[in-house]
Amino acid sequence: MSSKVYFIKTNIDDEKYYEKISKIIEKTGFYNNLEKNEDVIIKIHGQDLLDTPYISSKNITQIKKRINDKNCNGFLLDSNTLYHTKLDNYDLKDKLNQKGFDNVIYDDSAVSVKINNGILKDVEVIKKVNDSQAMIVISHFKGHSMISFSGALKNVATGCINLNGQIKLHKLVQPIISKIACLACNVCMDVCPEKAINIDSTAHINKELCTGCNICISSCPKNAIKINKINSKQFMKGLSESSYATLNNKKDNKVLFINTLINIKPYYDCNINAEKVLAKDIGILASNDCVALDKASNELINEEYESTDSNENFSENIFQNLWINVDGSLQVKYAEELKLGTQDYELIEL
Ligand code: SF4
Ligand code: SF4
Repeated sequence: MSSKVYFIKTNIDDEKYYEKISKIIEKTGFYNNLEKNEDVIIKIHGQDLLDTPYISSKNITQIKKRINDKNCNGFLLDSNTLYHTKLDNYDLKDKLNQKGFDNVIYDDSAVSVKINNGILKDVEVIKKVNDSQAMIVISHFKGHSMISFSGALKNVATGCINLNGQIKLHKLVQPIISKIACLACNVCMDVCPEKAINIDSTAHINKELCTGCNICISSCPKNAIKINKINSKQFMKGLSESSYATLNNKKDNKVLFINTLINIKPYYDCNINAEKVLAKDIGILASNDCVALDKASNELINEEYESTDSNENFSENIFQNLWINVDGSLQVKYAEELKLGTQDYELIEL
């Protein structure tokens, strides 16, 4: 059976953009599925929100009100960030506060969820997430060097686990450096937040120190730092297991995923080159199925790209052209294998 994915065309300059976010949530019927006294997580990505205002504090106030009207307890939550390049969580919380996103919970206490026959064996899910009955996961969709694209699956997989769990997951995807291509220019050494790169005649990564953040990849002027295909597959499997651990105790109709396809960048927000924009704004999508939602989001971007790009040397997959060793379709495939959703979807334009 196919999953419903709701879609509203819009762009960040549309004066009704934020109104349309409220409209799409109402259309999914999410609030009607809440039951008295439930804890409802509103999962945002704080770091991303500072760069791209993909949801407003007014939206959050309204979401909380709708949740409270159901006699439930709604609260904003984000995960502690693995990366040390921009802001620590205290600065981040403060900056979000200044933008009206107050009381964002950053809490590293976690419960361990076992994964039978998994790559990860267990996942450290943030306790408040594990204990909650419902969630609304709001993501900014964009490219990602380790998984090709990043949307709802990435937000629940890495954004709902504690720091220790994130390090375990990211260690699966430590990059490699080509000794032939490397010019020993020092750039990667300077950007590495963990001081994990040494340079002699070429650059070397200390695997003990490397957290697999992959910030170094796009810094290299010679494209000498890459993720190999095996590591990327392992990471995507781990990512699916992490999503599974986060969502496995929630009923399908109690979790709503929203992807905002605006300010679409090739890189994730922690990347030093994250300011580039790759494709024009497309709109907002929402679904109870994170697999269907990410698949639909990726396909809509590719359709848009195909219709506007005339470069015959590029494939029709916009993110595949950027991250040639990474097959992003695997993340939705693995998630589907773990029964997190289906790739078969019905797009309903509002
Ligand atoms: S940035 Fe690239 S070329 Fe420069 S040292 Fe690092 S790997 Fe080598
Ligand atoms: S992935 Fe690169 S930047 Fe990140 S810790 Fe490892 S070596 Fe450093």
